[in-house]
Amino acid sequence: MLEAHQIRKTYPNGTVALHDVSLNVTAGEIVVIVGGSGCGKSTLLRVLSGLERPSAGWVSVDGARIEEPHPAVGMIFQEPRLMPWLTVRQNVGFGLSHLPKAERLARVDEVLARVGLADYGRRWPRELSGGQSQRVSIARALVTQPSVLLLDEPFSALDAFTRIELQDHLLELWAGSRQTLVLVTHDIEEAVALATRLVVLKPAPGRIATTFDVQLGQP
Ligand code: ADP
Ligand code: ADP
Repeated sequence: MLEAHQIRKTYPNGTVALHDVSLNVTAGEIVVIVGGSGCGKSTLLRVLSGLERPSAGWVSVDGARIEEPHPAVGMIFQEPRLMPWLTVRQNVGFGLSHLPKAERLARVDEVLARVGLADYGRRWPRELSGGQSQRVSIARALVTQPSVLLLDEPFSALDAFTRIELQDHLLELWAGSRQTLVLVTHDIEEAVALATRLVVLKPAPGRIATTFDVQLGQP
């Protein structure tokens, strides 16, 4: 469903961030891309989302090449980036302004309930904890029903307790929907906890991406 073919990315200053990376994501997977700082994880995710053009290679979603942000691909960043002048409900509903109000509110309230924030719709972003803010940004991404969700270090800014709570929550959401997820992290424990498939991105040319199959030892 999401395919990256021989992606190369050279920034204008000459930095080669990705050397011919290929990745094939099938529906329902949680692909976790793990690697050290600076190895190109964010660049890869931005290329997959269409936010960044590759210097060579291509990305396709359901067989169609993409060259700009695509509605079937949702993205969640390390910082929630909520709009402080809008309530939680309005933040989540922002991408649904084309829908009639009743339908928009129904979709927003349904997704807020799914992320455990049914009673928080009328709050302001400044009234939320870090974990709650990140739940709102997950809700905002889910509400447009993308076929694949890209997550760039989504829990790295949170304390260890909240991080584990949100990892568990993400797995629960996934178990209920089998949404396709591609998540990048520098945290190997997080990668192992979440992945159905693990991809290790290495900075050295020629030995870039190593993929591992994750098998269930004891279901
Ligand atoms: P990661 O997310 O794994 O930390 P990045 O994708 O952010 O890695 O960066 C990969 C490499 O590309 C690094 O060497 C970084 O310094 C470089 N890089 C990232 N963004 C830019 C940019 N806009 N211009 C030039 N170099 C960049
Ligand atoms: P609620 O039903 O939770 O009060 P509403 O949708 O009625 O929320 O919105 C309350 C106010 O905020 C209205 O004046 C509406 O026009 C405004 N508003 C709603 N969504 C947005 C948005 N995305 N951007 C700016 N203003 C908005």
